[in-house]
Amino acid sequence: MLNKKVSDLLNEQINKELYSAYLYLDMNNYFDKRGLNGFANWYMIQAQEERDHAMLIYKYMQNNDCPIKLNAIAMPDKVFKKDMDVLKAGLEHEEYVTASIHAIYDAAYKVKDFRTMQFLDWFVKEQGEEETNARDMITKMELFGTDAKSLYMLNQELAARTYNAPSLVLD
Ligand code: MG
Repeated sequence: MLNKKVSDLLNEQINKELYSAYLYLDMNNYFDKRGLNGFANWYMIQAQEERDHAMLIYKYMQNNDCPIKLNAIAMPDKVFKKDMDVLKAGLEHEEYVTASIHAIYDAAYKVKDFRTMQFLDWFVKEQGEEETNARDMITKMELFGTDAKSLYMLNQELAARTYNAPSLVLD
């Protein structure tokens, strides 16, 4: 059994990751309606990755005999008026998730829970990549999003993104 605070925070993180999947589905839906299938694809893969994150924490908690409570997932309620709103909301959300992962790491560090710290190392790295990806999307959109021909090509590029299972595997 893990420290209660660490366990509670991990349990909350399952919910936050599932909410992330919901949020990215909402973004997928925005771009699907816009007719930008490449952007829609990119966010669909994001949603899949978020579910993976939730499942990894879920499995880690099970493996460590932690009580798991599956709380209600909040409704994504952001209104996107333009493409850039979605991209910026994505970056803002990833920064929030990074802070959340770091808070769990901090709680684990305080009680010398080396196992959870090691488990979370993967997530710390992953969050760095998520933030980079979100920032790259914003940069590309700033550069190419205003001209229809470039937006078409950017959409084609994002259509090529394929899903990869997480490199972290828990038995
Ligand atoms: Mg995540």
